[in-house]
Amino acid sequence: MTVTGGCQCGRVRYALSVTPRGTHFCHCRMCQRAAGNVFAGLTGVKKDELSWTRGEPAFYRSSNVAQRGFCRDCGTPLYFGYDKGDWNCVTIGSLDRPEDVSLETHYGVESRLPWLQLCDGMPEHESDDSDTRATGMISNQSEAE
Ligand SMILES: [Zn+2]
Ligand SMILES: [Zn+2]
Repeated sequence: MTVTGGCQCGRVRYALSVTPRGTHFCHCRMCQRAAGNVFAGLTGVKKDELSWTRGEPAFYRSSNVAQRGFCRDCGTPLYFGYDKGDWNCVTIGSLDRPEDVSLETHYGVESRLPWLQLCDGMPEHESDDSDTRATGMISNQSEAE
């Protein structure tokens, strides 16, 4: 099956060759800033399971180990990936059918806003809990995203 998504203006489109997994909200400050929101909603595939089918995102190197991709025209955050490892993420909200993925966990909870109450019962991890993010999908996580 193919899962598709893209930015708000439609200039950047992508396809995932499998159902994404490791769906999470990251509450870390870097994700908050990158998303311009109170957390970043991300879901993962292996790097060779993601292809850009129309246009390409602009990439911003948010640290020396990771980059984030967004549409240069409309600004939609689309992508997060570490340089090392096989996994990368797209933003849940950019999926054409975000309702098809289900939240699995929270990361970066040390920076979760104190008034944010999601009550979803999902497991919670701090940013330095490096080995468990999304079933180990990201092998080189550090606090620098
Ligand atoms: Zn766009
Ligand atoms: Zn984060």
